[in-house]
Amino acid sequence: PVQGVTGQTIAVLGLGRSGKATAAALKAGGAHVVVWDDGQEARAQAEAEGLELRDLNRADAWEGIAALITSPGIPHLYPDPNPVIARALDLGVPVDNDIGLFFRSFATPDWDNFGTTPKVITVTGSNGKSTTTALIHHILTSVGRPAQMGGNIGTGVLSLEPAHDGEVVVIELSSYQTDLARALTPDVAVFTNLSPDHLDRHGGPGGYFAAKRRLFAEGGPDRCVIGVDEVEGRYLANQMGQGPGDDRVIRISSGQKLERFAWGVFARKGFLSEYRKGRQVASVDLREITGLPGAHNHQNACAAYAACRAIGIAPREIEAAFRSFGGLPHRSQTVRELDGVRYVNDSKATNVDAAEQALQAFKNIRWIAGGLGKDGGIAALQPHLGHVVKAYLIGHSGPDFALQLAGTPYEVFDGMDAALARAHAEALPGDTVLLAPAAASFDQYPNFEKRGEHFTALVNALGS
Ligand code: ADP
Repeated sequence: PVQGVTGQTIAVLGLGRSGKATAAALKAGGAHVVVWDDGQEARAQAEAEGLELRDLNRADAWEGIAALITSPGIPHLYPDPNPVIARALDLGVPVDNDIGLFFRSFATPDWDNFGTTPKVITVTGSNGKSTTTALIHHILTSVGRPAQMGGNIGTGVLSLEPAHDGEVVVIELSSYQTDLARALTPDVAVFTNLSPDHLDRHGGPGGYFAAKRRLFAEGGPDRCVIGVDEVEGRYLANQMGQGPGDDRVIRISSGQKLERFAWGVFARKGFLSEYRKGRQVASVDLREITGLPGAHNHQNACAAYAACRAIGIAPREIEAAFRSFGGLPHRSQTVRELDGVRYVNDSKATNVDAAEQALQAFKNIRWIAGGLGKDGGIAALQPHLGHVVKAYLIGHSGPDFALQLAGTPYEVFDGMDAALARAHAEALPGDTVLLAPAAASFDQYPNFEKRGEHFTALVNALGS
């Protein structure tokens, strides 16, 4: 239940999964809840579930409303605020979201009593959030620490179980969520990296970075894990650290040596190293960890390792947990090894940046790509095709992609079945058959998950 709302009338805008969970948690906290959604179907469904509708577009709807809680999918500032949000702001009605309510109901001010109160770890950044969040959760449960995970991954924050003493709650947050929340008070805040996507809704790169930075407020988290491979991360680490001996900030990097910092965790050439005050504390060989292939996953490993070190878990325990991490479905996930050939499902690689990570993570690649291509096709991938033995192109963009392969052998297929069958027939021991489409799935599938599931089912049926 949400705390401190007893007897108040609270409006909820947007009746997706998070909106419904929010309404339920507010009711459980004793609030009088009224709801609205622009979609008629969503409204009808909510009404059938016993929620009280109120048309928040009407001027007379706002009498007595103490706060408006909105969903992450609804624009609140750029390019223009949703009209209901704009009206709340005009009237001076506080606007918040489920994340803000969660933190307001979940006070964790006491770092010194770590282990006797629940703790919250947040994960934000442009890429690798879900992998890092799931990996932290996996490490915690592997070492026997009670833990829950939610937010942008899996369970909404207000649907989590009430946390017990000693429990750790790991929350993935997107910039859309951090932007609006009126309270953000994690104990450990992780910032993975920054790449210029999602810019439109934040009014440009400054706004996007500002949304993520809100987790690192003055007097904010007790421990910060900050990726310093972009200038924004270096800037943030500079602000949060308080001098050479400070151990509030753990810097992480994929590629840079961070030996000179008070606390650094970095991956180079397949090895993770932890340095504290110039001394090496631990080294972990990541090369044989199948759940975390590629430099991008080594960055995620550094982030998760550092977050767990921040709460006192030992390096050897973290290393053991890495080994049993299966990876997240559809993200560079090894589905199967058959006759010396590895089959990898990276259906989540819906754009060229994500596909580039995968193309660098493996050798001797038989690359299944194509779908609903984005502007520019795969031209940007031309410098990264060195590990590709052959491309097996599918979907709407297949023929266009063929023109941008710059000499790499290819063949165009009707769909996944034929492409995989050919790749399987041609693959040699040591090869990797990689689904990394560099395109959206909507020309052939309802979403990237369904595309990945289709690939996985076909791979599992091979040779039987
Ligand atoms: P997010 O939750 O931030 O979208 P995911 O963990 O779901 O990130 O990974 C999504 C895709 O992004 C993966 O398929 C992978 O190709 C790519 N990716 C994962 N981690 C990183 C990283 N640290 N840097 C760059 N790309 C990454």
